[in-house]
Amino acid sequence: MTPSVRIRGLNSAPLHATRDYVLYWMTSFRRARSNFSLQRAVEEAVRLKKPLVVFEALRVGYEYANDRLHTFVLQGMEENARRFADSPALYFPYVEKEAGEGKGLLAALAARACLLVGDDWPCFFVPQMQAAAAKQVDVRFEVVDSNGLYPMHHTTRVFTTAHSFRTHLQKVLPPHLLELPREDPLAGVKLPKLASLPKAVSRWKPGVEVMVSSLPIDHSVPAVSMKGGSAVGETRLKLFVDERLAEYGTSRNEPEIDGTSMLSAYLHFGHVSAHQLFARIVKQEKWSPETLGKSIGGAREGWWKLSPAAESFVDQFVTWRELGFNMSSHRPEEYRSLDSLPGWAKATIKEHAKDPRPSLYTLQQLERSQTHDELWNAAMGQLRRDGWFHNYLRMLWGKKIYEWSKGAPEALHAMEYLMGKYSIDGRDPISWSGYFWVLGRYDRAWGPERKIFGKLRYMSSDNTAKKISVKRYVAKYG
Ligand SMILES: Cc1cc2nc3c(=O)[nH]c(=O)nc-3n(C[C@H](O)[C@H](O)[C@H](O)COP(=O)(O)OP(=O)(O)OC[C@H]3O[C@@H](n4cnc5c(N)ncnc54)[C@H](O)[C@@H]3O)c2cc1C
Repeated sequence: MTPSVRIRGLNSAPLHATRDYVLYWMTSFRRARSNFSLQRAVEEAVRLKKPLVVFEALRVGYEYANDRLHTFVLQGMEENARRFADSPALYFPYVEKEAGEGKGLLAALAARACLLVGDDWPCFFVPQMQAAAAKQVDVRFEVVDSNGLYPMHHTTRVFTTAHSFRTHLQKVLPPHLLELPREDPLAGVKLPKLASLPKAVSRWKPGVEVMVSSLPIDHSVPAVSMKGGSAVGETRLKLFVDERLAEYGTSRNEPEIDGTSMLSAYLHFGHVSAHQLFARIVKQEKWSPETLGKSIGGAREGWWKLSPAAESFVDQFVTWRELGFNMSSHRPEEYRSLDSLPGWAKATIKEHAKDPRPSLYTLQQLERSQTHDELWNAAMGQLRRDGWFHNYLRMLWGKKIYEWSKGAPEALHAMEYLMGKYSIDGRDPISWSGYFWVLGRYDRAWGPERKIFGKLRYMSSDNTAKKISVKRYVAKYG
């Protein structure tokens, strides 16, 4: 059963047991496997003895809609069409051809639904879109959290450091590790077939075949070689866990080595799940939850009782990733706001706001890699070209943007814009964790106090080049 702590009602409309089907509106967990939202919809369809309709749409009018993001999502939809084809659910993929064309489609589908199930994803335009839909439909609309290992609404507390979140997880996480989503929630399930969709829906044609170049979206950001979809994501996941995880502890900070999972884009669009990743790791490590001991006070290593490499990976994709979801789910108004920074960071930013900036770059210069710093230019070059770049360089990238901007609001805007536009994994709760980490969130005050940065942690390209090898990287992307 889908754990109740992961289910939230968004309206007070009733469930209509006599209507035609259960409707799952897939917006963020764009996958047929290991998905609590789909699982919940299946459970309700079985209980009500009704067909299940899975509705996955791609709009054109959202911020940053471009060839790169569209292509990645469409590749995922093609894969979903294949996976649902042999299932008892009816998959209804819909790609909007012009802005506003899809308006009314969800309402038309929901008008004949017993229940509407959605994805509880706490960021970007999704919560506002769902809140508007919840007012429009006359049927119970519930959203289900399939984001991570720790259900977002198990706590109301907002954690301001990774250490305090880790301490908390060490106390409360174990029972949630026993409640994994079913790998294939439709396997072995028998559901009635739906004779036809409501007549009112017929003016919207289902299908994923579309020429991205014909859509009214930004064509200046081309598709990348990284291909979207659950099948590619799962292959990458398996390859990483089986062949690279053992070296993660030593190679994760080296941008010239393919030492990280490169799963962020797949996690972002929900093509793979955190649970699938976790399940593969624990299988590889022959681990079981019984080995978990008591909290060890938030220490980074030693609690999971996994190999050191796996512990350091789990700390990234559980502690650090889910820390971002904790913030955006409980502070929807603040996770993107400078007001949410810790007091010391706000004070030091204010104190140094008027410090002269020896190098100031416009957003356009940043976007075109036109700075004096060749490592930074290379990182921006990789982001423009590949739609992804390495964590260590993201930290440096953000710190330099702050140093080269008039102030924190301008730096924040530049980070949001560049990542939102070019990074496949952008527009995610951990995107804002990253931008705000640059400005002091989840960090402490550092000394010595410097110009511009004040007590914010400082990073420089020269120091980075001393710590890690970047020569080949600069040659490749510079
Ligand atoms: C300024 C800045 C901006 C960032 N913007 C984004 C973004 O837009 N989207 C995004 O997904 N990540 C972002 N990150 C976090 C991190 O850099 C990426 O998740 C990571 O580099 C993705 O590569 P990977 O999948 O190979 O990571 P791996 O090292 O293989 O880690 C596995 C997963 O763990 C999570 N993870 C790893 N590092 C972090 C971290 N530092 N914080 C939170 N979660 C983490 C991600 O989900 C990642 O896919 C940003 C970090 C910084 C400093």
